[in-house]
Amino acid sequence: MTSLLFNPSDYDPRHFDAETRRLLRATIDWFEQRGKRTLVEKFHAKEFHADFLEFAAKENLFATLLTPAADAKGDPDKRWDTARVAALSEILGFYGLSYWYPWQVTILGLGPVWQSANPAARERAAKLLADGGVCAFGLSEKDHGADIYATDMVLTPDGQGGYRATGGKYYIGNGNVAGVVSVFGRIEGVEGPDGYVFFVADSRHENYHLVKNVVPSQIFVSEFRLEDYPVTADDILHTGPAAFDAALNTVNVGKFNLCFGGIGIAEHAFYEAITHAHNRILYGHPVTDFPHVKAQFVDAYARLVASKLFCDRAVDYFRSANPDDRRYLLFNPVTKMKATTEAEKIIALLTEVVAAKSFEADSYLTVAATDIRGLPKLEGTVAVNLALILKFMPNYLFAPTEYPPVPTRQDAADDEFLFRQGPARGLGKVQFHDWREAYRTFVHVPNVERFALQAEGLAELLMTAPPSAEQQKDLDFLLTLGELFTLVVYGQLILEQAELTGVDPLVLDQIFDTFVRDFSGYAVALHGKPSTTLPQQQWAVGQIRKPVVDAERFAHVWSQVENLSGAYEMRP
Ligand SMILES: Cc1cc2nc3c(=O)[nH]c(=O)nc-3n(C[C@H](O)[C@H](O)[C@H](O)COP(=O)(O)OP(=O)(O)OC[C@H]3O[C@@H](n4cnc5c(N)ncnc54)[C@H](O)[C@@H]3O)c2cc1C
Repeated sequence: MTSLLFNPSDYDPRHFDAETRRLLRATIDWFEQRGKRTLVEKFHAKEFHADFLEFAAKENLFATLLTPAADAKGDPDKRWDTARVAALSEILGFYGLSYWYPWQVTILGLGPVWQSANPAARERAAKLLADGGVCAFGLSEKDHGADIYATDMVLTPDGQGGYRATGGKYYIGNGNVAGVVSVFGRIEGVEGPDGYVFFVADSRHENYHLVKNVVPSQIFVSEFRLEDYPVTADDILHTGPAAFDAALNTVNVGKFNLCFGGIGIAEHAFYEAITHAHNRILYGHPVTDFPHVKAQFVDAYARLVASKLFCDRAVDYFRSANPDDRRYLLFNPVTKMKATTEAEKIIALLTEVVAAKSFEADSYLTVAATDIRGLPKLEGTVAVNLALILKFMPNYLFAPTEYPPVPTRQDAADDEFLFRQGPARGLGKVQFHDWREAYRTFVHVPNVERFALQAEGLAELLMTAPPSAEQQKDLDFLLTLGELFTLVVYGQLILEQAELTGVDPLVLDQIFDTFVRDFSGYAVALHGKPSTTLPQQQWAVGQIRKPVVDAERFAHVWSQVENLSGAYEMRP
């Protein structure tokens, strides 16, 4: 059976066109030829990834993958194609967050530009990419964190139709090298949303002052200040409420890459962990003979495959989105919050097994253990994304509607809708197809059936003992409810992808074994919340289920895990 995990040694994505395949292969080969020693040494030396940016420039990597067809001047290879953006995100994550991050913040920096109707700014960005440059996204400020309504980047009219911008930005990736820095600010004297503005700055301009790298690592997450920075009409991307929508819609596009980055990190860590543990002999036996070690590996594997299935299916909804089908707005924060926290759990399981190996200077696992913490925090924290997910819950569970089927989307299309998503409001009105359908299709898989009962239980809770008015203001209570709901959504798309791709039903059963346990765990957490009422407590206790145990199934999945020992090792 072909492995469900990405393996650089036999990676051959036949669904992509020739140039895309060449670029992805060239990226893998660049990392492999450079080797593992260099990879980890540069990580620990916190050496800026300039050599990677040089490689990307030489191969036209970012220019080809991140220039929409409308700005490609007829180049047939350039388009914004989420399937291949996701593929590169996974590959870069596989070799480390330090390489994924400059790509990611270039995507974010381009968001406000590709959403803008300003031809001069678009042309400049396309040229910058073609010349091998990178971009940055200047939204966050030192004092305001997630509160993006507040900004102290102020544009003052210069009396000649332009502005002078003054203010600071904080946590801005690529801020040391980017030729296009999309900056969010407000116009002096204009109160409220009408005052918002997105404009382009250039980090090489003399009025752009790079203060420092705020993180001690290979990536450059800058603090910068603009002092009297001249902003002309050619630099203005959006004004008024549209500038705020551009910020949110950019984050929508950008945060989709986090899950693939996390999957890549977890895959590389998995190969290293299983190869080490399976070949390490303690008391005359491989470490993997310990039942708890087997269980940890099987759990990590099931979670990793689950995450891949969900995120791959989410690509289809992302690419098929249009003004009448905004289901991606739910699946996207689930990729962000669920898949990245699952990646953290996978790394926690693997590092638990390999123990000291995940502290060694020459292990990828050491890199992974550090990097993986970042993903749930970027592009909105877990809490922020859960709060977003909750907005969709009533319609998702109780008001399904019909949609044309969404097929697998690996075609060479330009995903132009992502740059005309429109106003970011109205999330509670988005409707979904019937979630029960996917669960019905796989009711013959024992743990899918069991989990589906828990999912029905959630709907029943909301009907019979819904959150009170007080609880609806209590985010601590709601976030746990959000975790329960997220699992139902996560399971649905996994099942859809399993049907489309024919996943081994025993692996699927193992995946839902973890979900039954996770759902039980969140139910217990809800039970313990200070405000949980007696009916809610009774409901929570009733949801604690044991997964269907099947020793043969476990052995079957374990044999797939065992086969991954030695299946990949990075070139030294
Ligand atoms: C490595 C790194 C790179 C980054 N790169 C960039 C970049 O390139 N460009 C950029 O603009 N930003 C960037 N950021 C900033 C990042 O997006 C912020 O970390 C994020 O916006 C959250 O801000 P904060 O970390 O200051 O947390 P705070 O905003 O201070 O949040 C504190 C706590 O409050 C909670 N909270 C806040 N608001 C809500 C809410 N509405 N609902 C529920 N809970 C809430 C949070 O969950 C969190 O636990 C980067 C951050 C890091 C760590």
